[in-house]
This record gives sequence, C-alpha cells and structure tokens, in this order.
Amino acid sequence: MNLDAPVSELKGIGKKTEELFHAVGVYTIRDILLYFPRDYISYPDVKDPADLAPGEHAAIYVHITRPPIVNTKSRLKTAILQIGGQAPSHVNSLRCQAPSCGEVEKPEPLAGAKAPGGAQELRAIWFHQPYIRSVLKKGQDYVLYGRVAEKNGILYLEQPLIHSPEQYLDLQKTVQPVYQLTKGLGNNTVKKAVDQALSDCVSDDETAALRDRLPEQIRQKYELCGYAYAIQNIHFPVDVNACIEARKRLVFDEFLLFLLQMHLMKEQEEKTANHLTFSKESILPEIIERLPYQLTGAQQRAMEDVFADLRGPYTMQRLIQGDVGSGKTVIAFSAMLEISLQGYQSAIMAPTDVLARQHANKLTAFCEQMGVDAPVVLLTGSLKAAQKREALEIIRSKKNALIVGTHALFQECVEYANLALVVTDEQHRFGVKQRAGLAEKGELPHYLVMSATPIPRTLAIILYGDLDISVIDEVPAMRLPIKNCVVDPTWRNNAYSFIEKQVAAGHQVYIVCPLVEPSEEMDGENVIEYTKKIRDRFQGIATVGMLHGRMKPEEKNAVMEAFLQGVTQILVSTTVIEVGVDVPNATVMMVENAERFGLAQLHQLRGRVGRGDAQSYCIFMQGKKANTENERLSILNRSNDGFEIAREDLKLRGPGDFFGIRQSGTFSFQLADVFQDMAMLQKASEEAKEILAVDPDLAAPEHFMLKKELRRMAAQSASGERFHI
Ligand code: ADP
Ligand code: MG
Repeated sequence: MNLDAPVSELKGIGKKTEELFHAVGVYTIRDILLYFPRDYISYPDVKDPADLAPGEHAAIYVHITRPPIVNTKSRLKTAILQIGGQAPSHVNSLRCQAPSCGEVEKPEPLAGAKAPGGAQELRAIWFHQPYIRSVLKKGQDYVLYGRVAEKNGILYLEQPLIHSPEQYLDLQKTVQPVYQLTKGLGNNTVKKAVDQALSDCVSDDETAALRDRLPEQIRQKYELCGYAYAIQNIHFPVDVNACIEARKRLVFDEFLLFLLQMHLMKEQEEKTANHLTFSKESILPEIIERLPYQLTGAQQRAMEDVFADLRGPYTMQRLIQGDVGSGKTVIAFSAMLEISLQGYQSAIMAPTDVLARQHANKLTAFCEQMGVDAPVVLLTGSLKAAQKREALEIIRSKKNALIVGTHALFQECVEYANLALVVTDEQHRFGVKQRAGLAEKGELPHYLVMSATPIPRTLAIILYGDLDISVIDEVPAMRLPIKNCVVDPTWRNNAYSFIEKQVAAGHQVYIVCPLVEPSEEMDGENVIEYTKKIRDRFQGIATVGMLHGRMKPEEKNAVMEAFLQGVTQILVSTTVIEVGVDVPNATVMMVENAERFGLAQLHQLRGRVGRGDAQSYCIFMQGKKANTENERLSILNRSNDGFEIAREDLKLRGPGDFFGIRQSGTFSFQLADVFQDMAMLQKASEEAKEILAVDPDLAAPEHFMLKKELRRMAAQSASGERFHI
C-alpha cells in the first residue's frame, strides 16, 4: 500500500466522500492513518430510565412490544419509540427485565406530560430514518445508546444506536474512536476508511508502510510500543491500556520529530548579522518618563533585553513570556517606536481583525503620547479595495511606518520599504516558510514573539529552543486581584442584578457563551438567543452588543468599536474576544457553561477584566444539572495565577487522562499536550540532543527512517498545504 495514494483508492470512497475527506484535511492514505480520533467512547453500563439526566450519553434496555411510529408528515420523517414512563427500579443491567414500550397515537409531546407512575416520560427519536420502524422487531430486546435530551418535560434518547444485548456486551469491552467530522461525513465512514487503510498497510510488507522510525534501542529505553501497533491502537484500541500505550508512543514521536526539526533548522539558519544602523539616541528613557504608569521590574528587564537585541550584533529572535495582563504590549510598542525613530519599518501581526484594529488605535495613541510623529498603518482582510491600496502604498513608500495587521501582512502583494522588526504572538509564530519569504524580499528583520502560555522556564527553553526568552513574572502591583465565583443557573438572577449595579456604576460587562446558535448536537447557551434574552432583561438599563465569529468583519469591527467607546455596556460574545482585547473599563466577565471550556481558555477570558483601577469580577456559570462541584472551576476560583492554574490542572488530570479537554491549542501538536505530557517532552528533548550529538546529520542507518520523516515534514510544510507531524 502506498501511503501517498489518494484516499479514493480505498474501497467505497467515491468522489463525493473523497471531497468530504478533503474538507477535513485528509487527502492520502497516510493522512487517514494519521487522522487520530478526537475522543473515544467506552460504552456505559445500561441504566435505569428513571436515572437518566438530560445531556448525558446513556444506554437503556428495551423490549419491543410495539414498533416505533413514523411521523411521515414531518419533513424530518421522525421515527418515535415510546418507552414506558415508569421503569421498575431494578432495571439496571442487561439481565434485568426491560420496561415495555408501546405505540402512542399522538407523537406531539404535551407540555409537562408525565407518564403514569410519576416517572418522567421517555422516548427514542430518529430523524430521517423511517426504516427504523422495521429494524426494531416486535418481541425482541435491544440496547439503545444515545444522548439524552429534554423537550417539553419529556426525555428523549436522540438518534440512539441500536444494538442487540449481546452486541452491546461485546462493545462494552472495547474503546470506540470518535473522529472530527464534517457535515455529510459520518463517524462510521471514517471508521471504515481507517479500518481498511490499516488492514491494507498491516497485511502489507511491514518494511514499507508502517515501518518503525525509532531505532529499537530508543524504543526499549523509553518503553515504547512499535509504530504499527501504535497507529492501529490509537484508532481501534483493544482496550484502554493499549490506547494509552499507543498515545504515549505517538506523543514521543511528535515531540522528538519537532525537536529534531527545530535543532536541525537552527543549525542551518546561521545567525543573521544585524544590519541596522541606529543614528539617534534611544527613545527608551523618554518612553519611560512619559508612560502614565511605572513599568514593573519584570517589564523593565524584558524591555532592556529587547532594546539591547535591537543594537546587538545579530538580529533578535526573542520570546516574551508573560501571563495575561502582565503588560507585554507596551514592550512591543516601544520597540516599534524605537525602530521607527531610527528610520525603519516595523510590523505587528494580530490573530484577528478586531485585535489588529485595537492595536492600531492604541499604537496611534501611544505615538502621540510619546510625541512621535510617524505613520501608523492598518492592513487587514476587511479593508475596502481603496483603503487597501492606500495602505499598501504607505508600506511601500514610508520608510518609518508602524504597520499593524493580520495574516494579510505577509501576502505576496505586500512590498515593504525596509522592514526591520516583526512582532507576532505565538499562535502566529513565524515558520521557516514566512521567514524565507521575507528574506526573499530582501528583509532580514528582528523577530519578537509574545506568549501568555504559562509553561515553566525549563519547558519554554525546550519548546522555544530557537528563541531567547524574557519572562515577565510580575503583574502591575496597583491592580486589585479579580474576585471570582463559580455558580449554577439558580444564581443567574443574582448575577444579572449584580451586572445591573456594575453598569449603573459606569462599568462594562462581557458575557461569553460557548455556542453561536442553537445546536442539535450540543447543549449550552448560544450567543444569538442569549443576546435577545439579555436585551429584554436589560431594556432601558444597558445597551447590549453581540459578537461572534460568523459575523462579517465589518460588523464585528463596528460592535467592538461600540464596546470600546462605551456605547454598549454589555457584550454577549463567543470566545472571539478571548485573545488580547483590552477594555480597561470592563469589570465583569461572566462565562456561561464554564464547564465546557479548557482552563487555559477560561484564564484567558478572565484576563479581559481587571485591566483598570476598579475591582473586577469573574462569574463562572456552570451548566444545568451540574450537581457536583466542578474541581477544575474551583482551581480558577482559588487562583488568578496562570502558572499555578496550569500546575493544578495537571495534578487533577493525572497522566492517563487524555479524554478531557486539551489544555492549550497553542502548539501545533496533534496529540501531544505540552502540559500533560511534560515528562515525555523532557525525555524527547534529551533524546533529540543525544541523537544529534552522535549523528548530527542523521546519516547512520538506524536514523534513516527518522531522517526520511523529517524530510517529508519539511516538504509538506514548505508546500504550505497541510501540516502534520
Ligand atoms: P498582556 O500582557 O495581556 O498583553 P497588556 O499589554 O494588554 O497585557 O496590558 C494590560 C493592561 O495593563 C493595559 O491596559 C496596559 O495599559 C496596562 N499596563 C501595562 N503595564 C502596566 C504597568 N506597569 N502598570 C499599570 N498598568 C499597566
Ligand atoms: Mg496582549
């Protein structure tokens, strides 16, 4: 089997399915093998229907006395199975007797209807599958497995999978993969494709397809399973342990390849001499004098590092690491000002349009404040054609321009006059490709990367081995620590009253929901409906803005601008506001369905408040039926320190727990999580160093496969299409 063959070579994958696979980034057989599950399900024990709670996935046992009825009038062609409202309390295992089910005349639920016996009424519902009627045979027993939802007081098992009791018992012994899907591409289709690719590759001569890249000796040293076994068991683990072993091996590979690549790149990339000539005195003392606040000691040190680099013998390659709100922006802006004063251009790249605009405004104000008269120019995707032309012209002609933008900054059409400094945040850390692109344009700028990821210094040194690091480990002292609370929906009205008071005191409020619009698949508050609710609740009290990722860039900008200007007091938003937005007048961050977010993300969200002088508050609202206290949220409740949160979260999760929410999407690892897999990262780092110490060109036969894989990765990232490790 050729790993580079298109997925369409697999049986059963026609044009249409192939396109769906393309939509999720899968083109070749290799891609499908590396399309790791995003989660796994292990099937739970069969439950008593009386114990079902909305939102959970559950299995129940049914004995069919009447087949489901089909509502043919509905566009959805729903099949509905009525399952007895009252379940005998002893129904809790496969051996127990099942509740019986019967047909109902009217499938339309009556509001508040309760089944006889007082237990909640339960139905199973299938959309677009009228044939279910003939699948479920009278007199037979089945186990239905699916998600429980509640509508009008009736519980529904939504689109449950149907198994015979024996099948279900077998399934319970396994761990099933759950893949990232797209509309039209079902989990089973992916499963089948992976299964086929696997069996073709494994039956194939092992030397070709899934040959191990790691020398035997390294595998033994770190007790890692074989590559073919790992690939097989990451998809279809024979049991939970196999899954953990498979993941361990693949995480090691990911780290090792990443680190080898980085070290090799560093070797090739000789230090670039610093060509800039600084004819004027540094502006730094002036900046420090004119700032409305005093820099923290840590900010001062980072500032000195950066300014020394700018005048150093080589171009700067520096990372500034500091928690949210530690004040990284002022360092970047100061460096940009210095560069402009010396007659060169600088550019800062933001991850979103909204943030780029915010930076441009602040940078303009900063220049004024410092008495510097230099052109600040904004370049983003949402500019109108004429604006864009104008921006490009300034970038081409003004040799001291301060440039702010998104990805658009590094398109081919952008011609810089003399770019001397590029500032990015870590999500947009410059790849080799972009650097090469700029170098081709004749630019060899200084690079400054900013990061809020709270990883310990030892790890930062490993992960950012190609960068020098300045750490800002202090937050401005005058600031009041944010007050936190974790509450459930019964407290929501209190929260609103509290928000009302804050608004009355002249402050602003963020409310974050996990979803944009109502979803069939997921529970949780959505921005669109929530905004309506809040507009009703705060009518005549506060003006309410709405922000989400599906809005047009111009709309987003207008909404953000209104919030910045204080025209709207409450902003209901998705996590689009997570990164970097700075409205110091905002004092409340309320997060709905807080349990749905990763800790790092929640910490980032919280970082949007507590930026001014006033006391700020963060309200973590847990979704309904969260009767156990969420330990993760209580960490946030206790601490405002990003490093401590990361540490505590890690303790809580334990090494084998990888079914949870990934801590950080910051590094482009597929499986590995730098927090959770810290120990493995350290090992891989040691090993990478050892390998390169004895075999710097990876010329030894036992490193042949590693080298081949690195070449493939390099080719792939250079072609820019897709990126897999
Ligand atoms: P981040 O590190 O998250 O990017 P910012 O640079 O946006 O943080 O700074 C957060 C807020 O703190 C900004 O409003 C900024 O003006 C303010 N700030 C920065 N440094 C100080 C300081 N030393 N003292 C007081 N306020 C500061
Ligand atoms: Mg920032």
